[in-house]
Amino acid sequence: MLDPCVVVSVAQRNSIDKIRDAFVMERRREVPMTQWDDLRSMIRILLHDCVDRVVWDLEATGNFSISSARKFLDTVCLGAAEVKTRWNAFVPLKLNILLWRIAKDRIPTRLNLCDRGIDLDMLLCPGCSTIGESANHLFAMCPEVVLIWHRIAMWWGVTVPMHMSISALIGWVDEVALSLYSKQSFDTVIIVTVWMICCFRNKLLFSAPKLRKEDLFDEICLLSYFCINNRHRKCKMSWDRRSRAPSLAFNIM
Ligand SMILES: [Zn+2]
Repeated sequence: MLDPCVVVSVAQRNSIDKIRDAFVMERRREVPMTQWDDLRSMIRILLHDCVDRVVWDLEATGNFSISSARKFLDTVCLGAAEVKTRWNAFVPLKLNILLWRIAKDRIPTRLNLCDRGIDLDMLLCPGCSTIGESANHLFAMCPEVVLIWHRIAMWWGVTVPMHMSISALIGWVDEVALSLYSKQSFDTVIIVTVWMICCFRNKLLFSAPKLRKEDLFDEICLLSYFCINNRHRKCKMSWDRRSRAPSLAFNIM
């Protein structure tokens, strides 16, 4: 039977007395009262006599906020990255976003696709075919890309991180002894290199003609010079001086 009293609060409707009355209704007298006692011991919800309202659990005030929702999505859905990525204003938006996704291991490598239940013909790295393709391997540890990182290091006159990983690459700029402007440009080169490795991998798998491995370093240099010369207002690099150490090729405006 429908309840004739529709103007009532949750606290009034779910009071202990109401529940008990429902539990020991005439037609349910066969239910032992011990079950009612057990149920009552489990009910620990305290309802106050106030106007009913929706409560947002993520804020102490109970009021909804965009910032608390964003923090929840960042921590629960995206997970925490090992290192924080920097926003580099000298490279296009999509390059910054790619690095951020890589830092959070949110790119469709073969191992990540397999973890999501996608059936693939092969899980090995398409570059070396020796180990499963993870983000760390693809961008930092594959023998093919390690050679690229060593050429970048020689170009800039710095040493590669002792233990190559995504975190080490992101933090590499903090470890090198370069001037402020050179560090900004070196960070640009790192992000451009990550982008070009991603492009090289995708072209290797999906397109023809493919980007040649021996052309990859020159493509990285070309795109790096383009980004620095077009977006860095106080720093320019001369293309014909690119064979020299980049820190010497900068013209601070
Ligand atoms: Zn590999």
